Amino acid sequence: MTDATLSYAIDEEDRLVRVDEGYYRFAAENGWDEAGTSLGRSLWDYVAGEDLRKVQRLLLRRVRDEVGEVELPFRCDGPGTRRRMDIRIVAGSNGRAVFFSARLREEEEREEPMPLLDPEAPRGEELLPMCGWCDRFEVEGKWVEVEEAARRLNLFDRAELPALSHGICPECSELLLAA
Ligand SMILES: [Zn+2]
Repeated sequence: MTDATLSYAIDEEDRLVRVDEGYYRFAAENGWDEAGTSLGRSLWDYVAGEDLRKVQRLLLRRVRDEVGEVELPFRCDGPGTRRRMDIRIVAGSNGRAVFFSARLREEEEREEPMPLLDPEAPRGEELLPMCGWCDRFEVEGKWVEVEEAARRLNLFDRAELPALSHGICPECSELLLAA
């Protein structure tokens, strides 16, 4: 990633009202084709999974009504890349607007790309829970990194990958609710 920051803002109805160049660049680098139509749309259109939406709504409410500002780590991995990022969420001084700015803290290439993180990869019917905040997967009751998930599930020997069921893991849920 050439420029490691991106920012966006929402209005009182949680609609995206401002996105910066970094936002579009990040979208392009991650093959996210719909970015061009982001303005005016609901932030929640872009958050996959009921549970993650619920926790993020609670977090936003706390930012608006109580704390005013939070900074949290999150992951935004690609198949071949580990990305540790931080997001700062700040309530506007008047009204209900909220500003988000995300910054890349650390990026490293994986030794081997992980198709499990490839949105284009063909998938079967079986569902694998994924945390949308830390990009880990739940396998046999444990939340593990993608490499570990692929190993435990023997994905290298399988013809097709499981479909992803997007949600949030207990650690991230706690992190967001305690922010
Ligand atoms: Zn998580």
